[in-house]
Amino acid sequence: MLQALRLVRRASTFRTANIASKNTRSPARSFARSCVAYSDAHPTSLDAFTDEEQMLRESVARFAQDVIAPKVREMDEAEMMDPEIIKALYEQGLMGIETSAEHGGAESSFTSAIIAIEELAKVDPSVSVMCDVHNTLVNTVLRTYGTKEQQDKWLPLLSESKLGSFCLSEPASGSDAFALQTRAVKDGNDWILNGSKMWITNSYEADVFLIFANVDPSKGYKGITCFIATKDMGIKIAKKEQKLGIRASSTCSLSLDDLRVPAENIIGGEGKGYKIAIEILNEGRIGIAAQMLGLAQGAFAKAVPYTFERKQFGQAVGSFQGLSFQQARAACEIEAARLLTYNAARRKEEGKSFAREAAMAKFVASEVAQKVSGAAIEWAGGVGFTRETGIEKYWRDSKIGAIYEGTSNIQLQTIAKFIQKQYS
Ligand SMILES: Cc1cc2nc3c(=O)[nH]c(=O)nc-3n(C[C@H](O)[C@H](O)[C@H](O)COP(=O)(O)OP(=O)(O)OC[C@H]3O[C@@H](n4cnc5c(N)ncnc54)[C@H](O)[C@@H]3O)c2cc1C
Repeated sequence: MLQALRLVRRASTFRTANIASKNTRSPARSFARSCVAYSDAHPTSLDAFTDEEQMLRESVARFAQDVIAPKVREMDEAEMMDPEIIKALYEQGLMGIETSAEHGGAESSFTSAIIAIEELAKVDPSVSVMCDVHNTLVNTVLRTYGTKEQQDKWLPLLSESKLGSFCLSEPASGSDAFALQTRAVKDGNDWILNGSKMWITNSYEADVFLIFANVDPSKGYKGITCFIATKDMGIKIAKKEQKLGIRASSTCSLSLDDLRVPAENIIGGEGKGYKIAIEILNEGRIGIAAQMLGLAQGAFAKAVPYTFERKQFGQAVGSFQGLSFQQARAACEIEAARLLTYNAARRKEEGKSFAREAAMAKFVASEVAQKVSGAAIEWAGGVGFTRETGIEKYWRDSKIGAIYEGTSNIQLQTIAKFIQKQYS
């Protein structure tokens, strides 16, 4: 609780940025002034949050508006995260949300992490995924499978300043992640890793890497092992991808050439990497659902107010039934995605099974994000298509929701397995 209050206090120290210029009549500017948050406009009975979670939501929303919003377009155009934003995420206590206070974290709930990811995505899905991967994948692996020594060593660094990456995918293993080719061979008290990783989020800025490698290919997936390494051990960035969306979030290929990692850096034991990756990605999917949920709300909140300012045929375009029904449908879909996302998060928190619910939340939220952000461009007409308003960015950013941490087909495969188990 104290840590959550610390988050709230820290947020209030940021000055409010002047995001919409005055004295302008351009449609894009009047559009920017008219934006209100989706949840402010539509309070719902889903808001069954603790005081701490509610305070965190308000604090992250304020931080996102004041500190991140003024930099979103610049970072997108530069295809680079501003280092000041990364620093600010640490200052806000957002990089160790579930980590214990003893290890420098906020000691908050999993739902708090989900709320933070959602609120950040309303403003910038790139910043959101940086926080998401760091918290729900990297920190969680260490909190769940790390030894006390490993937790004492790594969690304070990850809470205070060092960014983390989760390195599973490779050029030849994406959906079939456990066909990975990276090998680890024992050499005295060390392991030597060779291989390459692909599509690794945060890797350009990260210092700490969780790397999945096979220590005994004859055992198949049972040889997969999770190692923790730092960039200065010799991890090389082979290529930084240029992407359609989430362009400020770095995605790189990594070369691991005779990377020497001490045996004490194995997380969870030899051959336990498969179990770690499966379990963590189930949880991580709820984070991506939250990112997509925030994105859909962000796009909705940017476009809808403008439709009540913009007049055609003598009336606000938002008052035409053809448009207002589309907005009503989008509001229903956002609400459904919220229910699925929070249901999955609470089930996880309560120790109930959640793999099916997480897959459903990610699948639906990513579809809703694409649909709503695409429609939002059309609701704003020509200005929606310009880069100035930022709506088109939400749509570009939405495409990734159906790809990473398991494509939509892989989510459907998971859900289908539950159906088959129940009915066949
Ligand atoms: C921006 C970005 C960030 C990423 N970040 C990370 C990261 O931080 N760490 C990491 O390890 N990975 C990361 N990834 C990798 C991501 O998880 C993979 O891209 C994803 O799992 C899909 O793998 P793939 O790209 O090889 O597609 P493929 O597996 O080749 O899939 C291609 C198509 O085939 C379909 N398909 C595949 N198998 C089946 C099947 N059995 N049934 C039906 N359809 C199927 C897929 O749904 C998809 O439509 C990232 C990717 C991107 C683009």
